[in-house]
Amino acid sequence: MQSKRSRVLVKFSGEALAGENGFGIDTKILGFIASEIRSLVENKIEVGIVIGGGNIIRGVSAAQDGVIRRTSADYMGMLATVINAVAMQEALEHAGLDVRVQSAIELKEICESYIYRRAIRHLEKGRVVIFGAGTGNPFFTTDTAATLRAIEIGANMIIKATKVDGVYDKDPNKFSDAKKLDTLSYEEALDDRIKVMDDTAIALAKDNRLPIVVCNMFKAGNLLKIIQGDNGLCSVVGQRQ
Ligand code: UDP
Repeated sequence: MQSKRSRVLVKFSGEALAGENGFGIDTKILGFIASEIRSLVENKIEVGIVIGGGNIIRGVSAAQDGVIRRTSADYMGMLATVINAVAMQEALEHAGLDVRVQSAIELKEICESYIYRRAIRHLEKGRVVIFGAGTGNPFFTTDTAATLRAIEIGANMIIKATKVDGVYDKDPNKFSDAKKLDTLSYEEALDDRIKVMDDTAIALAKDNRLPIVVCNMFKAGNLLKIIQGDNGLCSVVGQRQ
């Protein structure tokens, strides 16, 4: 039932949308990301997207002083991801693409609810699908949600789009001798010193042999080149299919 065409899940943090403001949503950044995604669709790549919510609220921080309980704070975080998803939908439509937002929490006046088979139909028709509200469960992250959705839709890879060009053995901002790791095993990615994604997300990817590609999304053309096979511009956890 699933097509053999290239299908990817692109995950980026909410902070990526905030730009220099550090909070909220910068429409220039939305526009840039939309043009990058459009180049993928024009090359017949099917695209699912998961966006974090950290530019608006993070559960752990909101619950820090004990006034807001963690569970409620996490639901607030999930709602934040839907705000970002709706903003991204607008920008992608502005760029001429067909888009659907599917939320893991029912918000029927705003978007579709997540239905796996429906998501696949959208992708097959060339529509970009943005998966909002994370997994729909507190105590998870959008990295885990993105990995889960990637596996469900049969994506060839999950692309963790960041501001750096891959995974380093130590923080490249602090250590001048930090080395980029071109390929890593899932076990290496689970090492606490290596920051790829949280352990739940990596374990899920490992169990399902889903390759995780870490790259810089802010260099024009990068996403397309990487999906087309340029491994020099990224780090790959697991084996690319
Ligand atoms: N969240 C959650 N369950 C999920 C996904 C997200 O509870 O399945 C909440 C959690 O509070 C998290 C917030 O939504 O802090 C925003 O997501 P995340 O921190 O992953 O965003 P990012 O750091 O990628 O911007």
